[in-house]
This record gives sequence, structure tokens and C-alpha cells, in this order.
Amino acid sequence: MKKDFKVTFWGVRGSHPVPGKNTLKFGGNTTCLEVSIDSVTIIIDAGTGIINLGNRIVADFFSKGGKPPLELTLLFTHLHQDHTQGLPFFVPYYLGQSILNFFGPLNFNEELHKVLEKSMAPPNFPIDFDSSSSVKNINTVKENSVILLDTDDKKPQNINIFHNKPEIKNTSILIRIMNGFSHPSNGIYIYRIEYGGKSVVFCTDVEGYLYGDSKLINFAKGADLLIHDAQYSKEQYTSLPVPRQGFGHSTPEMAIEVAKAAEVKNLAITHHDPASLDKQLDEYNSKYKKQFDKLFYTREGETFQII
Ligand SMILES: [Zn+2]
Ligand SMILES: [Zn+2]
Repeated sequence: MKKDFKVTFWGVRGSHPVPGKNTLKFGGNTTCLEVSIDSVTIIIDAGTGIINLGNRIVADFFSKGGKPPLELTLLFTHLHQDHTQGLPFFVPYYLGQSILNFFGPLNFNEELHKVLEKSMAPPNFPIDFDSSSSVKNINTVKENSVILLDTDDKKPQNINIFHNKPEIKNTSILIRIMNGFSHPSNGIYIYRIEYGGKSVVFCTDVEGYLYGDSKLINFAKGADLLIHDAQYSKEQYTSLPVPRQGFGHSTPEMAIEVAKAAEVKNLAITHHDPASLDKQLDEYNSKYKKQFDKLFYTREGETFQII
């Protein structure tokens, strides 16, 4: 059977949603990525982009006569609001037919489940995180974990690589984890998803280091697609009165430095600043393509085919 491995960008904005006529081309929803591998769906982050994705998943499931359970895997890079604010409006979360497998970081020594409970509870939202009908399996993972899925079996396993060697088959999907520390104030997770000899690395809310982030360069080595934060232009990053140095985001120059050193095949720029409107992003896209031929600025609704 022909393999199918693709990513779709459902939210490419950083900080907060930006609706309106000036963001129609690149989109205004906050971070959410769908990774589709044959019939397996992996979602990274639950910014407002996840709302449209949830509607699409449920419509497809019922229109195609899908047999329950509707099983999905959700990975969190971190728990900032622009990466979680869509979850209360994600329809599969309310369906008794859904099994949602969550994976994410320890947050200030608090398990993922506790942080999600806090993010969705009265008086901030009328429904408790735990009270919806879906089955929720919530896993706090660490850098020494890998998540193993299989296109024949959607149930993910959380494997400690120091204790067990994952058994990789032709149908295996392997998710590796890197902990990055440049984002205030608890760092983030970067995920590398591998299938059929191909790979995609999702790396948002990171700030570059002088000479390039060596750990990230090694982690992203040879990836078919690196999706990298470049929220700020060089001017925003350095100019007074509010230089954005230390805010935990990169410039395109930083993303390109990593992409070149890691010898990735394609570079997708994401987590666009709310102040960067379509015209500006078009200009950046043309400008930075000259520095890395296989670069593109991510647009909401676009799909990139890996296999
Ligand atoms: Zn963010
Ligand atoms: Zn953040």
C-alpha cells in the first residue's frame, strides 16, 4: 500500500488570534498542526486553529461512516495560552466516541493533567476539563521518552529509551522529544516525527543561540521538513523602545542558520507575529527564499506532502 505522510497548518499565528481582512492570506488562528500518517492523526498544540480542525475531523468521521472510537493523539509543545486556547472548542473532546491521547511536558513540576485542569475550569470556562464525555489518556513525557504509534494500531506507547529499545516496524511512527530552554519561563518541547524513512520536526517558541542551537541542529539533522519559529524580524528583535530579545522567539536569520547546519530539505517559517500582516509576510517570504531556496512562510489551511 502506498504510504501517506503529510502535515496541514491549521494555525500559524503567535501570541493571539488576528482576524480581519489583513490576515486572510496567511491566516489569523494561533498554533495548531495536523500530522496525518495513513489513518493516524497526530495534532500538535491546541491554539485556535484546532477549532476548525476538530470540526473537519468530526464531519469526516460521521460522513465516512467511521467506526468508534475516534482515536487522536495530541502533543503539546508547552502550555502557553496561544497553544491551548482552542481546546475548549475542540468538538472531539465532547464526544463519547472519542479517545484522546495527550502528551506534554512537566510544567513547573506539575503533571500535564493538572495544568490542563487549571486551563479549563470555572470561573474561566463553564465546563471542567475532566467532565466532558471523551476518554482522556494524559501522559507527562520527558526528553528520555519516545512515543511509538503504528498505522495498524492507533494506541500510542510511551517508552523510556533508557529502559526499553522501541521495536520499529515498517508501519511504526516514532516521535522523538527534545527539551528546549530558550522560551520563558519553563522551556518547550520540540517533536520529531519519523515514518517510512521520512521526518518532520516541529520547533516553535524557540529563540536562537549564537552560532546556532547545536542541540537542535543535531536533533533536526536531515529532516525532510523543519517547521521553525521566526516571529520577529531583525528590526523587531533589536529595536528600541521594546527590543524582543529574550522573549523566546527567533528571527528568520536564526531559523535559516539552523536549517542550513542541520541540512534539512525544507524549512517552514511559523508563529507569525500578530503585527505581521499579509503584505509584510509576502515580502519576508520572497526575501528569505533567496537565503534558503526551500523556505516558505506557513499559511493556514495549507498542506505539505512529505510522502
Ligand atoms: Zn506561542
Ligand atoms: Zn509560548
